[in-house]
Amino acid sequence: AGTDIATPGRTKDIIRKHGFTFKKSLGQNFLVDQNILDKIVEAADLGPSRGALEIGPGIGALTERLAREAGRVAALEIDPRLLPILRDVLADYNNVNIVHADVLKTDLHRLWQEQFSGCERVSVVANLPYYVTTPIIMKLLEERLPLDAIVVMVQKEVAERMAASPGGKEYGTLSIAVQYYCEPELVCSVPSGAFIPAPNVDSAVIRLKRRPEPAVRVSDEASFFRVVHASFAQRRKTLSNNLAALAGKDRKAELAGLLESCGIKPERRGETLSLEEYARLTEALVGAGM
Ligand code: SAM
Repeated sequence: AGTDIATPGRTKDIIRKHGFTFKKSLGQNFLVDQNILDKIVEAADLGPSRGALEIGPGIGALTERLAREAGRVAALEIDPRLLPILRDVLADYNNVNIVHADVLKTDLHRLWQEQFSGCERVSVVANLPYYVTTPIIMKLLEERLPLDAIVVMVQKEVAERMAASPGGKEYGTLSIAVQYYCEPELVCSVPSGAFIPAPNVDSAVIRLKRRPEPAVRVSDEASFFRVVHASFAQRRKTLSNNLAALAGKDRKAELAGLLESCGIKPERRGETLSLEEYARLTEALVGAGM
């Protein structure tokens, strides 16, 4: 373990050797803390029959650990300057495939077929670039990839939003989208000193365990998310005021009746409704043609 990438000394050596300069715009903060890596790898629950998809390998701090634990690793990196470095530092591992790609522009179903056909289960394990955390998570969820879990380092505040329960200010459309598909579990908080360079925010590792079926049953998912988004359009407005935008202003009285019939007081705010309540409300609104 004396040669592990994720130590301040080795990371600085690699950066110096290759003359690498950090790009803030790509969210480049490299992990240099072995204890945090232990926790990530443990939460990912890998093994020789498992695959791991990493997004943004950087100089390979996490990739190296994944290569030791998983049967197969695919890592997508957008910055071409990192490819020769990764090839160099990961030369000893023959189960790693580095792909030069922007995850948001990648056909992940195809990648799955190409990279993980022999794997029993595949999880996404990554220290995400913070400027695109939400789009990446939404892509992974909405494309319904056959993944087992998503174990990711994100900004602490984003982890809290993903895991939030109804009633608090962290609870919003991201909480609902994540919890519709997954069961979230906070793994650990991570101080900014665990990275080179240190980011300006605190971080956290979160594990999103994919549910076998979505958390609630709805006849039309697009409508469910339309109702959720409309309910949070203006956080300080009541549900009935926010939903009037969907129903049409002239149907406000009817809308109030519908809400009551679902057991939801029209003066409640979107942030107090559970996923079950949103599911019930969606069925009622769709049934009424709203
Ligand atoms: N995994 C490394 C670690 O833990 O030290 C690096 C993590 S760093 C926070 C994020 C990495 O994601 C960087 O290497 C960055 O170049 C890469 N990246 C940023 N945007 C990306 C994108 N759209 N697709 C793929 N990789 C991206």
